[in-house]
Amino acid sequence: MAQQSAPVYLDYAATTPVDRRVVDTMHPFFVEQFGNPNSLDHRLGWDARDAIERARVQVAMLINASPNEIVFTSSATEAINLAIKGIVLSNRSKHHRLVTTTVEHSAVLQTCRQLEEWRLSTTEYLPVDSDGCLDLDQVEESVAANASTMLSVMHANNETGTLYPINELASIAHRSGSLLMTDATQSVGKANVDVRASQVDLLAFSAHKIYGPKGIGALFIRGGLSRQELSPLIVGGGQEHGLRSGTENVAAIVGFGKACEITMAEQMQHAEALGDYQRDFELKLKALHPDVVVLSDQTKRLPSISNVSFPGVESKELIQELRGYAFSRQAACATSAAKPSHVLQALGRTEPQCRQAIRISFGKSFTNQANASLPSAQKLASDIAAAVSLLRH
Ligand code: PLP
Repeated sequence: MAQQSAPVYLDYAATTPVDRRVVDTMHPFFVEQFGNPNSLDHRLGWDARDAIERARVQVAMLINASPNEIVFTSSATEAINLAIKGIVLSNRSKHHRLVTTTVEHSAVLQTCRQLEEWRLSTTEYLPVDSDGCLDLDQVEESVAANASTMLSVMHANNETGTLYPINELASIAHRSGSLLMTDATQSVGKANVDVRASQVDLLAFSAHKIYGPKGIGALFIRGGLSRQELSPLIVGGGQEHGLRSGTENVAAIVGFGKACEITMAEQMQHAEALGDYQRDFELKLKALHPDVVVLSDQTKRLPSISNVSFPGVESKELIQELRGYAFSRQAACATSAAKPSHVLQALGRTEPQCRQAIRISFGKSFTNQANASLPSAQKLASDIAAAVSLLRH
């Protein structure tokens, strides 16, 4: 039977392939340097510990943090849970008020909901406008009026790519004595993430969105918050400054560090090339189908995500028609739930409009001119336009 060629991958917002250089760096930590980093009586343990601490420096450098401000977790989801629940659980005598937005990733939304179910906090979910933007005056009012413990706003949205002004949001939070936690899972590696310049208090991200392995994430904690200020969710041997017990996943941590080092060296160049590709692709698509809706092309957004819809064309059918490509309708974790996207609904899209959206997300292979197997922006736009025309007839 003839083997089908792999589809052109356009789902980099869901996950990325692991960079070869990352795989090579991880490899020795499975078989040769397999020591437990907490075995401090012999060389294998010391080597593993050194490797983790080197990776911590690499991860910290990418976001301009200090190594002692980084806690390794199993994912961005866990880092987000640790940040929000950790703060709330550290002071149970108080009823906490949290402020977040309706367009956050489910890791934030479900964490807030769970804390509400546990009656430890109440949350205000702030609306966005039809471009996905927040009204900063409204944010300020709500953070101040609620005397909130924490404002949690993502840096970049995973479905639309919209960037949120975390520098201003940190100032707003701090004026009311509140903390700013930001989910930077999509922005790290594609936009400038600098925890010193932005003054965020807590920031979560993950390796598998920046060509590192799955199953490893990090939480930045300004000033390396002590255990009293942040309750651990997983207790045991006291690893990660007591904030995340369990023997560390050394190979994954080493891979995360390497991915951050590579990202730091190459990010600017890739972001520029991705931006050029995205602009070109969207212009060509608009020329071929002027009624295409591109979200949210009037706002600041990531160069890597184009959320497009064609009135009257169901995204499920469009995806089936374009089998040579691999892209999604919405966030990978929401696709299985088959519900309309909560992000698009928050932007005021109707259910039928939500069913028309596709998320095309580009990655660094698109910046490699030498890769002849990748479609030009013209080819991609024409293939999509042709499928749309076919489905409309
Ligand atoms: N936050 C955002 C914005 C994301 O896009 C994702 C992953 O899709 C996550 C959080 C969860 O990341 P992880 O898969 O590392 O748990």
